[in-house]
Amino acid sequence: MEIKILPVPPEERKTPPNDVSNIVFGTQFTNHMFRMEWDRGVGWHDARIEKYQPLILEPSAIIFHYGQEAFEGLKAYWTTNSQYVLFRPDQNFARMNRTSERMCLPPIDEEFVLDALKQLLREDIAWIPKEEGTSLYIRPTIIATEPALGLKPSSSFLFFIILCPVGPYYPEGFNPVKILVSEKFTRAAPGGVGEAKTSGNYAASNLVEKESKEQGFTQVLWLDAVERRYVEEVGSMNIFFVINDEIITPELVGTILPGITRKSVLQLAKRWGLKTNERRISIDEVIQAIEDKTLTEIFGAGTAAVVSPVGELRYQGKSHQIGDGKTGPSARRFFDELMGIQYGLVQDSFQWIEPIE
Ligand SMILES: *Cc1c(COP(=O)(O)O)cnc(C)c1O
Repeated sequence: MEIKILPVPPEERKTPPNDVSNIVFGTQFTNHMFRMEWDRGVGWHDARIEKYQPLILEPSAIIFHYGQEAFEGLKAYWTTNSQYVLFRPDQNFARMNRTSERMCLPPIDEEFVLDALKQLLREDIAWIPKEEGTSLYIRPTIIATEPALGLKPSSSFLFFIILCPVGPYYPEGFNPVKILVSEKFTRAAPGGVGEAKTSGNYAASNLVEKESKEQGFTQVLWLDAVERRYVEEVGSMNIFFVINDEIITPELVGTILPGITRKSVLQLAKRWGLKTNERRISIDEVIQAIEDKTLTEIFGAGTAAVVSPVGELRYQGKSHQIGDGKTGPSARRFFDELMGIQYGLVQDSFQWIEPIE
């Protein structure tokens, strides 16, 4: 399929912000977007790069009522070797297709869409910020657009990619966060859509995230929905524990989002000869290991923060300090290595980096 390019006329163009560190995440978008439509019997069609603009949808469009949707999140970086790059974008589009399968959305051609993304980025290349730790956030999305309130999969869809510059995640330094174990609410149940990156999962976690923020916590730690015992994720990040020098993360049992950062951390750990273990881990085991000091670190891993060290965990009304409450050596090492690869400071021996131009 050909991609039509409809560049925004110079007089209608916005200029990129000169200080991205002040931008509230996800509020300022570039000049262009990529979009294409899908219709039954036709497939994907009308691929184009055009002005970032509002969508016109009927109020009855299925997305507004039943949330039939898939999304992704990745970033473009400007490296210290003066290159524009992406980090493992193939993984994002592969995951998007897995989400789509679960949500009855049509599959995308992963190579085609990656090429479309690169073309879009070239149109808005001046929007990839160059200051240390900054990036251009990329949001591919598929929504159900058929105007029909009947409960069934849509017969028409829209795929789009939008871009927004983001400042450094840690403007005040790489500091640990406080997390609250959610005891009343859960994120995902077996057989549900926890492993899909789809809108409803996030709508459902708003209430808990809001309540935990009001109590001074940055993130919520989710337990499994059946026994309220096994640790699943932290906020919208995967979680890691360092116990007796072993790197432990919950195994992907269907209720956990298969993070690309999670996968990368595990691959790095193996490369470094560290012991890794993907298994179920109960909150009781975590608390016990904190108390007997065999647990030395907890950290989250996800595209937004890369790695987020946990300094304090609150469970059943009791606060537990993790290690000495400061950023631990494993979190620091994974953070430095991943950031180093993304920004061209560290050799990309896994070939995770994909040049844009
Ligand atoms: C996106 C996401 C992650 C992290 O995935 P990455 O691919 O590493 O960015 C983890 N958990 C949830 C719930 C997510 O939505």
